[in-house]
Parts: sequence; structure tokens; C-alpha cells
Amino acid sequence: MVDKEIFDTPLHFLKGVGVARAKTLASELDIHTFRDLLYNFPFRHIDRSRFYRISELTQDAPMLQIAGRFVGFCEEGEGAKLRLTGTFSDGQQMMQCVWFRNIKTIREMYRTGTDYVIFGKPVYYYGYYSMAHPEVEVYDPQKPPSGWRGVYNLTEALRKRGVTSRLIQTLVTNLFENRRLAELPEVLPPEIISAGHLMPLREALYAMHFPKDAAQLQRATERMKFEELFYIELHILRYARQRNISVQGHIFATIGKYFNSFYANQLPFELTGAQKRVLREIRGDMRTGRQMNRLLQGDVGSGKTMVAFMTMLMAVDNGFQAVLMAPTEILATQHYDSLQEWCAPLGLEVRLLTGSTGVAARREIDEGLRNGTINFVVGTHALLEDRVTFARLGLAVIDEQHRFGVAQRARIWAKNVTPPHVLVMTATPIPRTLAMTVYGDLEVSVIDELPPGRKPVETMLRYADNRMSVNRLVAQQLREGRQIYFVYPLIKENEKLDLQSLEEGYRAVCDTFRNIPVSFVHGQMKPDEKEYQMQLFVTGKTRIMVATTVIEVGVNVPNASVMIIENAERFGLSQLHQLRGRVGRGADKSYCVLMSKANMSATTRKRLTIMTETTDGFLISEADMKLRGPGDMEGTQQSGLAFSLKVADLARDGQILTRAREAARQVLDAVPQLYQDKEGTVPSNAGEFSNKPMTLAPDSIELLNRELDRRFAHKIDWSQIS
Ligand code: ADP
Ligand code: MG
Repeated sequence: MVDKEIFDTPLHFLKGVGVARAKTLASELDIHTFRDLLYNFPFRHIDRSRFYRISELTQDAPMLQIAGRFVGFCEEGEGAKLRLTGTFSDGQQMMQCVWFRNIKTIREMYRTGTDYVIFGKPVYYYGYYSMAHPEVEVYDPQKPPSGWRGVYNLTEALRKRGVTSRLIQTLVTNLFENRRLAELPEVLPPEIISAGHLMPLREALYAMHFPKDAAQLQRATERMKFEELFYIELHILRYARQRNISVQGHIFATIGKYFNSFYANQLPFELTGAQKRVLREIRGDMRTGRQMNRLLQGDVGSGKTMVAFMTMLMAVDNGFQAVLMAPTEILATQHYDSLQEWCAPLGLEVRLLTGSTGVAARREIDEGLRNGTINFVVGTHALLEDRVTFARLGLAVIDEQHRFGVAQRARIWAKNVTPPHVLVMTATPIPRTLAMTVYGDLEVSVIDELPPGRKPVETMLRYADNRMSVNRLVAQQLREGRQIYFVYPLIKENEKLDLQSLEEGYRAVCDTFRNIPVSFVHGQMKPDEKEYQMQLFVTGKTRIMVATTVIEVGVNVPNASVMIIENAERFGLSQLHQLRGRVGRGADKSYCVLMSKANMSATTRKRLTIMTETTDGFLISEADMKLRGPGDMEGTQQSGLAFSLKVADLARDGQILTRAREAARQVLDAVPQLYQDKEGTVPSNAGEFSNKPMTLAPDSIELLNRELDRRFAHKIDWSQIS
């Protein structure tokens, strides 16, 4: 095919490349073909669309070009310090050009009295603007100023071989002058281009490298981002649909006596509107015969446990068992205690299974799960062991999902012929855009409302100088009978130092608050010792807890009213938010103090200030993602982004992602054969992409299949990950 050939032509066939350069470009930038060169976009652009006047220059001016003449040259210094200064005039004002290298050549090359265009970054220095090592060209009045030009990523090896941004510009220009590029094939079907009002590929590629202006660059960028995201979404969704069709789910047809009796007689509070809505969404999933895969996001304290429990009741009402899995023993134990209390009046059997469950108890639990006499089991990773089997497992609830890897979730899946419904709960508010791409086919439910009567935690940023006043706050709260957390960072890289500062912190706390019993907990302790220290605090026998982030998930101590976070700058925002969620659980006003060093970077200050300004987990997480980039997001490291993005940026391109996903949905509605199993259809949501149903020409379908193959043939099969 003509199409394929031009894109896949090896780079050394291009004028100006040659074998040696082709090799370097391949090894350094992974550019092998014409396609690679075209898709190697500049990371920024410089404006060569107009000439600036010297009078217009400012301290923070970007790289720019000025037309004028050299009025004189002057060499200063000697030896290694030798430099050449050229005074440059635009006819009205003067500035300087400075060279530190190649002085002899330059001195011979440029003359006074000739019109030149100089290009570079002006800096203000001792009363003059000057440009170091500017690009200099003879001014050609016939030639209009060119448009914008790209600046490309380069490496040292490339520079050594004379590859500059300028050279890449030339190569791209040569490529566009190639006759065959006139018929550059489109990689999106025309139906999508027109429904999405997208710039055609050839035009967009050219504009990515040589935009006329900012507006054109933006349109081109949008098109390239759309293209990237559209194929990712199409890929994810076609597998999701295939699985929805080929994998049967248990049908929970009824809401029965357990659910109703609990709702009528035992529910300790009125459910929030958000809890009710989410329960309806879950119920909707479970009656369809498709297996549910739902991510339940809800801020700390939003009441996810109750939603989980009531979902578990739907399972027993339909004759199934359910598991609730938590990342830590302490959290599992707390869940077990709550469930125990709610289950007893209903006559339901619930057990706790963790690493420290004794042999005899384990045997009894294994047996009960196998013969179905146990309805619910709560536990840790221990639940994943092969020996744990169920009579009729209908539902798996996984709390604090980010602690579990994808592989572990797949193991629960493997426990039954018909996979259980899966409800994954997280308090890490993953921005929707990210969730859509990371988890692909997980539906997302959000509890976006806290139970009534919660008071926001008053959060303040404090420094070493303020230690006395912070201690006064602690002392005063202790006098009122409250409990206090001191939290220290503990990060693998310098574990020793961290442990040392934690221990010092512990001693300081004991010194300052004499006669107050203190718990001391960190990740290096033996589980039973940790458990013991935690339990002391939970039961109020100790009043202060000095700990590392092991307390991050789980403990519910409503009487705790102050949390001091030491070296707060070392925590991620979402982590700080989770930690802060440990206080403010009771009726009293509570405080979170972020201790930090006074001299911090602007970004750090911004991050910590966000914490003092809002308690909205979604805002915080979104801000975190913008400041740190999605790659760094806590909670996503383990699952990892399955696809690396070249042009699009999840933190900023949520809207484009939504449109791309909608387009992918419509394509799959129009062309069921894009998923391998050709039977059945799945209803789609109408969306903003275009409200007309899409029809696709046979050529377009072939194109989509070809592109999907090219882009993802080597990628993992997402249908196996729930
Ligand atoms: P999380 O979503 O962080 O897991 P929990 O499920 O632990 O939150 O709930 C936090 C606290 O709020 C618990 O003490 C719980 O009993 C209480 N709670 C949950 N839902 C409601 C509600 N609708 N009204 C009042 N309190 C509630
Ligand atoms: Mg919880």
C-alpha cells in the first residue's frame, strides 16, 4: 500500500540524513521512519513571525528576532577569557551581541554595514540588552519573516554530531517537500474528523512543527491529542465490551429480607443522598447479568463502609457469600468489628481472616466458607491464598484499592468460574480523567457528600519557630480530654535517618508532655507489637500517638482532635489529605498542623497552602496532579498507567479525553465487529462528541483495525484485569 510505505520509509532515505545521522537519530531519539520524524514534536516553539524593536524588549522576553546592522566589534579580555562584543542597531536603539567561542570565524563572517537578522534570548546586563551567541542571517527583504519554529529535545550525543533544532527543522521541511508526502494518508476515519471538527492529519503535522500562529498550533495540538487518546479509549473499550458480553455475572435479582430488615430496624443514621445514589448504581449493575466492576470513590469519612456492607447484604439476600478485603490488619479488624455488630441481630455469620489467625480458627473458617455456613469474611491478603475457597462467592469488596496491585485483584477473579462482582473502594480521589484511562473499563461511582454535621479540620502551616505555640495547642486539647497524633515521614531511601528523627520526635514528645501516656508505632515493628500500640490508642489508654504513615489507612478514633504532621513537605498532597482524615471524626473542632522548614520552594509552598485552603479531596487531588504530573500520583504507581502518552496530558486534557472516549463509544456502537466476539450490543451513553449516531464506511473500519493493530498489537490484554 502506498499509505503504509510513505510512513514507514526508513529515515536515511530522506534528503539530508545519511546513514550515520540516521543511526544517531535512531539510537538517541528512537526516530527510525518518516512517521517517527513527523511525530517527533517540538517541546516548545519560538516566534519568528515578526521582527522585534529593541525598544520593545523586556527582562523576561522570549527568544526573538531583530533586524538591523552591526555598528562595531570589539574584543575584550585574553586567553580563555577572550570575548567578542558586537554592537547592533535596529536604526533607533543599540544592543550588544556577545561571543565567547569561535571568535576569529565570527569576526571574519559578520561585517558592519550589512543588514542582518539576529535571533536569540535577550538579557538585560549593565544597562544594555545583549544576546549571547545569537543566530545571525543576512536580512533578505524579499523573504517575509517565517512563522513559528520548533525547539526539539536533543541529547549530548546528538549535539556532538551536529544535530540541532535547526537541523531537525530542515529535515522536516525536506520531508514535507517530498512529493509523496502530498498524499500523506489520514489515520482517523473521515467520519470522525468531521464529527469532531478536527484538523486533517497532514495539516496538523505541518502545523505542529511550523505553526503560523498560536491559534493554529492549538488546533493542531488538539487534533494530535485527540488521535492519541481516541485510539487508547477505543482499545480499552472494545475489550471491556467484549468481556461484558462473554463473561456472565451473577444476577442479584432481589432486595430481600436481610437488606430490608437492616434498613428498617438497624441503620444507625439516615443515609446521605450520595450513599443512596451509589447504592442504586450498584444495584443497577448487579441485576443485569453482567459482572460488576465498579470503582467507588469517596472522600475520607464519606461513609463507604456502610455502602459496602449494604451491598454485601444484597449478596446474601440472593444466596451468595461476600468478602471484604482491607490492606492492613488493623483496618480489617475495625471493619470486622463494625460488621460483627451489624450482623449479629440479623443472624448472619461473619469471620475475620488475617495473617495472625490461629491454625484451629483458620481450619474452621476454611470449612465454613467452603460449605457456605459463613456468609461474610473480612480480611487481609490472607484471603487470597489458594486454600481459601467459597461455596458461592458473589461479591468481593476491596477497600483502599491502591494498596493492592492489579495482579491481586485478578486473583479474586480467578476464585470462581463465574467471577464475583467487584467493588473497589478508594479514598484517594483519583481524578475522573485518570480513572478512566488507568482503569479503562471500571465504572466509577462517587460519594461526593459527607454525612451531615462534620466540621472541617482547621489546617495551618507552621515552622520550627512556632513549636512552642503548637505545643500549647496540643496541651490545651489534652486538657480537654482529646487525643493527639504526631506523624513522621518514613521513606525507603533514607530509612535510617528517618527512623532516627522519628525516635527523637518520640523522646521530645515524651519530654514535653510528661505524665501523658504515648503510643509509638512505625512500619518496622512486629505486627503484634504494632497492633498492641494502636489498640492502646484506640481504647484511649494512651493519649498521644507518635507514628509514621502506618496510621494512614484505617484507624477510627473519633476522640482524636489534633494531628501534627512533621516535615509535611515530604508528603504528597493526597497522602496529607488521607492523614488529615484521621482527625475531625468526632463532634469537636479539630486541627491539623503542617510542620515544615521555612525555606521551601515556591511549588512546595503552593502545595502546602492548598491543604490549608480546602478540605475537598477532589480539588486536592486535581491540584496534586497538576503540580506533580500524573506519573507521580500516589495510588497509581502500583497499577501504573498502562499507556504512556506522548502528546496528551491527563492533568490538562480532560475535555479532549471525554470527547475521544465518546467517539470511541460511538464507533463501537456502529461497528460491533471491532470487538472480537461479534455477538450482542451494549447500550451507549449519548455524549457531547456529536449527538448523531455514527455510520462508518468499510474503508474507515479497515483503517481503524489497522491503526489498532499497529498501536496495540504488542500490548497486554486488558480484559483480564478487573
Ligand atoms: P470512609 O468512607 O472513610 O470509609 P466510614 O465508612 O469509615 O468512611 O465512615 C466514617 C464515619 O461516618 C463512620 O463513623 C460512619 O459510621 C459514619 N457515617 C457513615 N455514613 C453516615 C451517614 N449517612 N450519616 C452519619 N454518619 C455516617
Ligand atoms: Mg474506610
